[in-house]
Amino acid sequence: MTNKPKKVDIIFSPYSVAPYKILKDTMKRTKEEIIAELISSGLRGRGGAGFPTGMKWKFAAEQKSSVKYVICNADEGEPGTFKDRKLLVEVPRKVISGMAICAWVTGATEGFIYLRREYKYLVNELQKEIDLFKVHSKEVGLNFNLQIFLGAGAYVCGEETALLESMEGKRGEPRNKPPYPIQDGFLGKPTVVNNVETFASASMVCRIGATEYKKFGTADQRGSKLFSISGDSPKEGVFELELGMSVEAFAAEFGDGDTKAVQVGGVAGFCVPRKDFAKAIIGDGNTTGGSTMIFNSSRSMYKVLHNYLDFYAEESCGQCTPCRIGCQQLLKGIEAVKKGEKPAEYLDQLLKLSESMRLTSKCGLGQSVTNSFSSIVTNFREEMIY
Ligand code: SF4
Repeated sequence: MTNKPKKVDIIFSPYSVAPYKILKDTMKRTKEEIIAELISSGLRGRGGAGFPTGMKWKFAAEQKSSVKYVICNADEGEPGTFKDRKLLVEVPRKVISGMAICAWVTGATEGFIYLRREYKYLVNELQKEIDLFKVHSKEVGLNFNLQIFLGAGAYVCGEETALLESMEGKRGEPRNKPPYPIQDGFLGKPTVVNNVETFASASMVCRIGATEYKKFGTADQRGSKLFSISGDSPKEGVFELELGMSVEAFAAEFGDGDTKAVQVGGVAGFCVPRKDFAKAIIGDGNTTGGSTMIFNSSRSMYKVLHNYLDFYAEESCGQCTPCRIGCQQLLKGIEAVKKGEKPAEYLDQLLKLSESMRLTSKCGLGQSVTNSFSSIVTNFREEMIY
């Protein structure tokens, strides 16, 4: 645990080497070496689910198929997160290098950057970078055709299988898992789907090596992590930090001196109240999607939760009942308690409902409602009532 958030400068560090040098240097080594390096680095997916990246690539490499895909999930729709946009604007080469290395080690020949519709304004610059990549990939004999796919603007399409459905022209609804995309992904072929930050981090592992990379972070979460910081903070923005800091240290650095709650991991994560700041460690059991919202004492936690539930109710794809009905019921439920139409004890029934949603919803959207719901209702109960 650190007393002060430790700033790291790996992902955004300038590098004045020739374009796609990381890719070219990496391709001088064996594919097995690179996969072993990634596994050793401890890098986990940076989209929130946290699956070990090296293992995902290893499984994809082992699939017997003449057609494989690599997809960069740039459908950044979690409220409060904007780090992937910064990566795509400032270091797209590191992201594309990560994708290309993944394609090389897994044997994929087609790739897509699945770009959030709201980021359409990035298309021209990204395309220029892709064109440059094509020149350099030819030099090293890499057969990897990369293109941009624009999403249609649904939050649930950040879920990898819903993303694949939407790319196939269907409703963006999550699939049953297994099979996983590395077995049966885009158009039924093995597909690696990783987040923007994951690809950028993977190329950094290739550049600095696993030993150096895993010096950062916790035993659970190695390496550095990008945080999108918003809310009541004089230092809003994207910061690369070492995981393992306490929320207390985080609030001291980024809060305004009057922080009463920190939402760790976006709306799908947990809301940590001031009394727990010292014991809550970011990167140690907490979700690490990277969105951290800071609330000071002027904020109504009822309104915060209302906003979250409004968002969930709007974005639920409606495929499964616990999430489709549950999100609406939680929203109506807290409104009814606030208006005095239901007694305060009704909040306990809502907590049970959110727990049922966690256990029975089909995808991460419905499953994670209980994280923010229970942490806010439990810790700020009076604000839900009065
Ligand atoms: S949990 Fe929600 S978003 Fe996920 S499949 Fe069910 S209805 Fe759709």
